[in-house]
Amino acid sequence: MIIGGWQKFSLIDYPGKVSAVIFTQGCRFRCPFCHNPELVVPEKFTESVSIEEVLNFLNSRKNQLDGIVISGGEPTVHSDLPDFISQIKKLGFLVKIDTNGSCPDNLEYLIKHHLVDYVAMDIKSPLFKYKAHTNSNINEEHIKKSIEMVKNSGLDYEFRTTVVKEQLSPEDLFAIGQTLSGSKRYILQKFIPRKTLNEDFMKAETYTDEEFDDFCLKLKTLVEECFWR
Ligand code: SF4
Repeated sequence: MIIGGWQKFSLIDYPGKVSAVIFTQGCRFRCPFCHNPELVVPEKFTESVSIEEVLNFLNSRKNQLDGIVISGGEPTVHSDLPDFISQIKKLGFLVKIDTNGSCPDNLEYLIKHHLVDYVAMDIKSPLFKYKAHTNSNINEEHIKKSIEMVKNSGLDYEFRTTVVKEQLSPEDLFAIGQTLSGSKRYILQKFIPRKTLNEDFMKAETYTDEEFDDFCLKLKTLVEECFWR
């Protein structure tokens, strides 16, 4: 597994917990709005951080941190992710994973072996638009499988969508809500153009606060909890 970066302290990445965030390198998607191109495009990879250094740091913070967030890139593309998380678990931390759901079998392994306590899964678009939105050859059935697995995991979880106005219509958002029907939590994230994989997306826009309020009102008819941030 390759760690492309880390954040030693966060109050916002693991709901209700004080955490550290570890960013893995590598992802099979190429979302144009991705704000971490240095974790996605091999030519932009920065020097990696050693696993030993990270584990030593976490060992020294056992009493200050509640949980560790494994983010990316896409963590589940790494076959040695379970070993890495096992070592974190041995230190007594809760583990949250941020995933795009593209590797359902690897996600299933983590859930079945009690290696994750919280799953945050990105939903990029309605299923039929996935290939176009992720610029990848993803099998949409894999996304569907991951959604059902997360919903039935018994874990705390959230689904979330970064909303770029040009990419997702109000109808698209409702279609996503229908796919997530019965889920515990769905979060719409306003797209903020800080850094993007496709530079054209630095000019992209999102919806107004009032429009987001309206989307959430409608989506609440499909999921238990829906809010935007
Ligand atoms: S937004 Fe997430 S899934 Fe998309 S390219 Fe970036 S890291 Fe991969």
